[in-house]
Amino acid sequence: MTASPPPITVPQANPGAGYRALQAEIDAAVARTLASGWYILGQELRAFEAEFATWLGLPAAAGCGNGTDAIALALRAMGIGPGSAVATVSHTAVASVAAIEMVGATPVLVDIDPLHYTMDPADLAAVLADPPAGLPPIRAVLAVHLYGQPADLDAILPLCQRHGIALIEDCAQAHGAALHGRRVGGFGQAATFSFYPTKNLGALGDGGAVASQDAGLVTKVAALRQYGWRTHYISDDIGVNSRLDEIQAAILRVRLAHLDAQNARRRAIAAAYDEALSGTSLQPPARRADADHVFHLYVVRAKARAAMQARLREAGIGTGIHYPQPVHLQPAYRDRVAMGPARCVATERAAEEVLSLPLYPELTDAQVDQVCSALRTLG
Ligand SMILES: *Cc1c(COP(=O)(O)O)cnc(C)c1O
Repeated sequence: MTASPPPITVPQANPGAGYRALQAEIDAAVARTLASGWYILGQELRAFEAEFATWLGLPAAAGCGNGTDAIALALRAMGIGPGSAVATVSHTAVASVAAIEMVGATPVLVDIDPLHYTMDPADLAAVLADPPAGLPPIRAVLAVHLYGQPADLDAILPLCQRHGIALIEDCAQAHGAALHGRRVGGFGQAATFSFYPTKNLGALGDGGAVASQDAGLVTKVAALRQYGWRTHYISDDIGVNSRLDEIQAAILRVRLAHLDAQNARRRAIAAAYDEALSGTSLQPPARRADADHVFHLYVVRAKARAAMQARLREAGIGTGIHYPQPVHLQPAYRDRVAMGPARCVATERAAEEVLSLPLYPELTDAQVDQVCSALRTLG
């Protein structure tokens, strides 16, 4: 008989703790919504959309079923589908790439900057200047603000402008992240969000949204998310059913009011981890200059990752890997998706070494100390 491992005392993520921290407020919001008798596209969603847009500093936002649909709806609202290619990264949640194919467009995968793990503008420039043979015209860039850190928009935005193509920001991991003091989501033509329970702004179920500086684009998304209706029962466009329901909207209103404080707590925990990692073999995450990172994930680089993960596990600390296999190597995409000339070499290297430590606002000071002392002795 082998000894069973000690219990995990600090899980890598803990959506239940997120609920319990705001339980009274959330329960009241859910009860209010249940009692209202209105469960789909009502006043909770309208209020959330307005509050979220204001918080982002944008004129409008439209809720939808999840963050994958948000990308697909943004693309469709911009007229991007079959006959168009969209450049994004391979080091991301597969959803970024799946959404591009959902609308019939063709993804082309660009390598990452190995320091910040976001899109490498040099590889993007190269693929825009000389696209792979047979690829339809690249009509948009889907930049992912990965782990809570803004992508290098200072370099990416001018490239999009020079080539006359759209920038869409995948903000699923970056609610509240900022560049030059401006929140992400307002730089491109459209921004997409996920409210998956573990995201910085999480529902207790699925949810997503599209926001934009262009209120007209948001109106198009709002029609497409419900059968292409502008008037009930009359489809002006071929739409889908991807709605953010009233209960989730009511929960998100509660959580939005706490988000700035929770992002500050994430940053404080990240600072404690940074300090604990100095002098260890683990490489802490780099911060982009003049950017506010919101630490959806705290990702270190470990040369002997499996051994490190096992040692932390023995110390009761859960870890995760985001992401273990780049999209272009996954069975559904392998040998099929186009890549930039850098061939995603930095992406493949990162996938072997990235390790996500526990990070969410409900971690107690004692849990943070436990992780820090484990990092000092084991790292
Ligand atoms: C979570 C996530 C998505 C997809 O969101 P869902 O709500 O799970 O569909 C898209 N892109 C990124 C970068 C994500 O992290």
